[in-house]
Amino acid sequence: MFKDESFDVIVIGAGIGGTICAALLSQAGFKTLILEKNAQVGGACSSYYKEGFIIDQACHIIPVGLKGIFGKVLKRCGLQNLKFSTGIATNSAIRLINTDYIKMGVSENEERSPEEAQENLKLLGFTSEEQEEMLKVSFKLLGISKRKIRQMLDEKVSLYTFLDSLTESDRIKSFLSWFDGLMFVIPPRLTSAGEFLRSYQEMMIKNDTSYPIGGCIAIPSAFVEGIKKFGGTVLTNTKVKQIVIENDRATGVELEDGTRIDSRIIISNLNIKQTIQTLVGPKYFENSYLNKVNNLKESWSSIVLKIALDKIIIPNFSSVHLFNVDDFTSQLKSIDEAYDAVERGEIPDKPAFMVPIPSNIDSNLAPPGKQLLICGSIGPPTREKQNWDPWIKKYYESILEFHPEIDDHKIFMDVSTPSPTTGKIEVTTNFSIFTGNCSVEGTALTQDQSGKYRISSQLPIDNLFVVGDSAGTDTHGIGTQIAADSGFKCAEFLINKYKLEKKIV
Ligand SMILES: Cc1cc2nc3c(=O)[nH]c(=O)nc-3n(C[C@H](O)[C@H](O)[C@H](O)COP(=O)(O)OP(=O)(O)OC[C@H]3O[C@@H](n4cnc5c(N)ncnc54)[C@H](O)[C@@H]3O)c2cc1C
Repeated sequence: MFKDESFDVIVIGAGIGGTICAALLSQAGFKTLILEKNAQVGGACSSYYKEGFIIDQACHIIPVGLKGIFGKVLKRCGLQNLKFSTGIATNSAIRLINTDYIKMGVSENEERSPEEAQENLKLLGFTSEEQEEMLKVSFKLLGISKRKIRQMLDEKVSLYTFLDSLTESDRIKSFLSWFDGLMFVIPPRLTSAGEFLRSYQEMMIKNDTSYPIGGCIAIPSAFVEGIKKFGGTVLTNTKVKQIVIENDRATGVELEDGTRIDSRIIISNLNIKQTIQTLVGPKYFENSYLNKVNNLKESWSSIVLKIALDKIIIPNFSSVHLFNVDDFTSQLKSIDEAYDAVERGEIPDKPAFMVPIPSNIDSNLAPPGKQLLICGSIGPPTREKQNWDPWIKKYYESILEFHPEIDDHKIFMDVSTPSPTTGKIEVTTNFSIFTGNCSVEGTALTQDQSGKYRISSQLPIDNLFVVGDSAGTDTHGIGTQIAADSGFKCAEFLINKYKLEKKIV
């Protein structure tokens, strides 16, 4: 197919980082080819169709929609095809095991008195002193300057240390650690306080927590439209077998069927570890670099139960958060220990769930009168093949403790697990498993892996780059945001480089 044809850029993988990078490079005039092994684009941020439902591959709330990096790239590429439903956080609710749903925020056209806000905190177990303190802490978090945040990133301050100095209230510390878990899926002792504050402030100030109309796949699909609009080529069902290295330079790729395609620049959207181990081969790298990459820490993973229902069981809310604890009383140390136990493979006794309800946000994502619940909870940081049945069983039973009626109204349940399973699933009938999402964030936002310490997108081989949530010095944000930022910054780098050298554009 590509006989005698060569490209300026080949991007391997059409995840968020890959599609954004390819769209920007196409727009800048680079002759771009993007190759995706799956039938559909999007990677972890994809969706598929089943029995009238459009189902997300993983479990997503987009921290900042059009007011953030996605809006910036869409504007630059002149794309108007991606619409977000906003106010997802303000239309979310928390439920502890024996309570009703407690709505977390208010949208622009609603009003809530300070007394009502305090009443909500009271329902979560906050004493009146803790409610006052929470208010002060919220202002403090928003008031920390950019300079101070940069300093905390540079000094590798952990969230644990920061929270300990912020307040004496265990309840507030554990409330903020829960938020940290939703954002970065790592324990407070590992989280970069600077990165936490940066993302927290952006979310609170921009107030643009969103969900894409059409399901998560709408995001990468919008950028695919951009690639095509500027003359780029997008091929799905096309797996790259290896990156060709000649004279210490990346010069092309070889597909599974043996086809070779030449390109001046190769950008991999696979995790940096997989890129090196499976696409390039470790022999091309010095040991010190290999050690550095092998020691990169991924975040914990998520096991996602995607439950299609024949009736609407949870009306009104865009997303809900389910807890099996009756208040936020854990100390920071025991929160860290709970993560350690999951890492050892121990299934949490009382798992919590983040449950976006896509069909409440966009009614086209489920047939009329039916509902889709996407229930995500923590899993260990692993790529090892293992039997996930006990996790799935425990998590499904835990969800039923909140909503027993789910069992009677379930049409089917699909599950995403962090790695392939060796077991036979017997939890329910009508049950499919999708695997391979691995960690939530490819390179976790720890103190050692944030800001200027984050590993570069540029590999120590000429013309070879990695974009996505695993690489990119000084890239920031949660999951999809950092993957997007990485694709954006890599494209900017290449555009500037080749404009100066007048080699390509
Ligand atoms: C369970 C879960 C829940 C999450 N929740 C959230 C959330 O609520 N909010 C949020 O912002 N983020 C969330 N994230 C994180 C977010 O989804 C990811 O950070 C982001 O989507 C990763 O994008 P990426 O660019 O790194 O590429 P990936 O999604 O990793 O995509 C890589 C692409 O490369 C393709 N590929 C792999 N090998 C080859 C090959 N050999 N040849 C060709 N193609 C190949 C893959 O098929 C894939 O399409 C979640 C992630 C998970 C797993």
